[in-house]
Amino acid sequence: MSEVRKVVIVGSGPAGFTAAVYAARAKLEPVVIEGIQAGGQLMLTTEVENFPGFVDGIMGPELMESMRKQAARFGTEYITDNATSVDLSTKPFTVTTSEGTIRSLSIIVSTGASAKMLNVPGERELLGHGVSTCATCDGFFFRDQELLIVGGGDSAMEEAIFLTKFASRVTVVHRRDSLRASKILQERAFANDKIHFLWNSAITEITGNGKVSGTRIVNLMTGEESDVAAGGVFVAIGHTPNTELFQGQLELDGGYIKTSGSTTETSVPGVFAAGDVVDYRYRQAITAAGMGCMAAIDAERYLEATQH
Ligand code: NAP
Repeated sequence: MSEVRKVVIVGSGPAGFTAAVYAARAKLEPVVIEGIQAGGQLMLTTEVENFPGFVDGIMGPELMESMRKQAARFGTEYITDNATSVDLSTKPFTVTTSEGTIRSLSIIVSTGASAKMLNVPGERELLGHGVSTCATCDGFFFRDQELLIVGGGDSAMEEAIFLTKFASRVTVVHRRDSLRASKILQERAFANDKIHFLWNSAITEITGNGKVSGTRIVNLMTGEESDVAAGGVFVAIGHTPNTELFQGQLELDGGYIKTSGSTTETSVPGVFAAGDVVDYRYRQAITAAGMGCMAAIDAERYLEATQH
């Protein structure tokens, strides 16, 4: 693409697709660099019950496919590839993928966040073979098995409760002796007979020959180590914003892109950011979608003000 685009959207979760719907309807002819796997984190979920408008809930992937089609209906173009670099130091800005470089007058960053890992031996090798960061995606494969889930936040509790639908026993491994999760989720987890807790504990190794069979766990208070058998290990210890592409180019705050006041403006005029790449507080599909809408409106106003 040799012409200069009005807006390029990097990332394709609820924020990116909503920005695309608004930008396309504003005749900004957006290009979405949607990544190799489009749709963001909702592609890793099953039922979404809290997205307004769906009385009976909707499956995450179905919701994302609808958003994608809705943006396409108004003329959004998609590049199904990852952005490999960006240059925000000169205008027009450039975004590069393996297919080439796109120039654009404005950019909306909606690259989301990725699951944090434990970084212990065995984890990477066994990812997808018993190690998972998404209970809702993979729980089904662990019928009648004993599972471990790491973390003490809302995600860990929500996923532990979900896993009890399939597993014979779910043990929460948490590094402290109290949970960070909201009281309502704590109460539900404590009341569930299938959920057990290993407090003040950390997994130091995940073992298995091609498939998870167990873990080595250390008690952080006593230093005592033990082998705990498990058919699966679910890691639910939070997320890291996907901001590597923008390091040194956009101002970040704790890794997340910093935006100005209640707008989606970043430290570079003409570059806007929306969704989980900015938002460490709410991290909901609906808040990401709302921010995507804001980013498109901010980009539209920026283009109006700077184009003569
Ligand atoms: P989180 O709130 O950051 O919790 C992460 C948990 O993992 C914490 O308990 C933390 O321990 C533990 N942890 C972090 N790094 C670790 C490591 N290297 N090894 C072992 N444990 C580690 O993340 P989250 O649960 O994914 O939630 C993120 C946000 O989404 C929160 O604001 C949450 O409220 C929200 N959320 C809401 C819902 C809901 O309302 N239904 C569902 C899911 C998520 P410490 O407690 O010791 O720090």
